[in-house]
Amino acid sequence: MQIPFSPPDMTEAEEIEVAQVLRSGWITTGPRTKEFERQIASYCHTPKVVCLNSATACMEMILRVLGVGPGDEVITSAYTYTASASVACHVGAKLVMVDTAPNSFEMDYEQLAQAITSRTKVIIPVDLAGIICDYDRIFSIANDKKQLFQPSNKLQNSIGRVIILADAAHAFGAKRNGKMCGEIADFTSFSFHAVKNLTTAEGGALTWRSIPGIDNEWLYQQFQLLSLHGQNKDALAKTQLGAWEYDIVAPNFKCNMTDIMAGIGLVQLKRYPEILRRRQQIINRYDEVLRDQNLQLLLHYGENHTSSGHLYLVRLIGREIDERNEIIIKMAERGIACNVHYKPLPMMTAYKNLGFDIANYPNAYNQYRNEITLPLHTRLSDEEIEYVLANFINLISK
Ligand SMILES: *Cc1c(COP(=O)(O)O)cnc(C)c1O
Repeated sequence: MQIPFSPPDMTEAEEIEVAQVLRSGWITTGPRTKEFERQIASYCHTPKVVCLNSATACMEMILRVLGVGPGDEVITSAYTYTASASVACHVGAKLVMVDTAPNSFEMDYEQLAQAITSRTKVIIPVDLAGIICDYDRIFSIANDKKQLFQPSNKLQNSIGRVIILADAAHAFGAKRNGKMCGEIADFTSFSFHAVKNLTTAEGGALTWRSIPGIDNEWLYQQFQLLSLHGQNKDALAKTQLGAWEYDIVAPNFKCNMTDIMAGIGLVQLKRYPEILRRRQQIINRYDEVLRDQNLQLLLHYGENHTSSGHLYLVRLIGREIDERNEIIIKMAERGIACNVHYKPLPMMTAYKNLGFDIANYPNAYNQYRNEITLPLHTRLSDEEIEYVLANFINLISK
């Protein structure tokens, strides 16, 4: 058997939709993208959504809209993918990383509180594996530190405290305390990259909660200007007969979503309840069998939360890096692709070069050293799930 880690789940419906977009005469940002934005807003219960070509672009552009730059600080977790951190560097802000709490994949909230200074503008929590972080706690920390906050423009002033930007690349469709991921943090960024639960090959969406005194249409327009060269008319508006003239209001970026991507996304969104159900089924089966092993599992489904079921992370209690790596190799020999989420950022060259040292992140290191991620996707058959489980148990029992 050959079991890939996270292949895209595409059906004939996506093929038909893409073919329709291709034949429609409009393939870049246009009606499909706008419709995808409307449907995501409705799904996430948010007033407005912008779709861009990646979650990274969503995070970078909101930092730019917020006016975050040199002299400012942005805090994120040491235990995440590079994009949660690199966006702070893109805008010239100082990156601050916080360790995870002991035996947890979430930031240590005590340390988070300590890390907030008068220069802190944004906190980027990461909803790892599809499980929403403790935003009650994060908001309460941001509110407690309100007097430190030094707003430098109208938008920052309207929020009036450190801004919470959720990196929810994994967590589309997750819920916590009756709220959808997307309506909890101030801003929430989703990824539709090929390995994610819902994919447009590449792509991302940013949702936000209404901010008193800020017009949502104005906010949306800022993303249009940033993502489309600072051109005051998009390509669709320019196709109106005679409406050739446009202005460039700033030398901006290019990171818009195409209608081809949005077409795939619209079909995936329609299929999404079924996709989430199947992921939950697989996780329940994994949990059922692995519960009795010497492993630490994540709680994807609880009384007050429902995960999007994006990644199945386990920790091999008492094991070391070499043993973990050996198990990954042995699983690969049996045709099963596993992964590690994540090697902490302070261990990566780019962040070492910025002065980060893993010695200052002992909890993140402990999470990393015995972590292994099993394949979890909607192309897995029941038979393959049993094959993964049987082989994994066989290998960890040695
Ligand atoms: C995939 C991922 C991203 C980046 O998403 P893109 O759409 O590829 O930009 C950001 N953060 C996390 C945690 C991710 O897993």
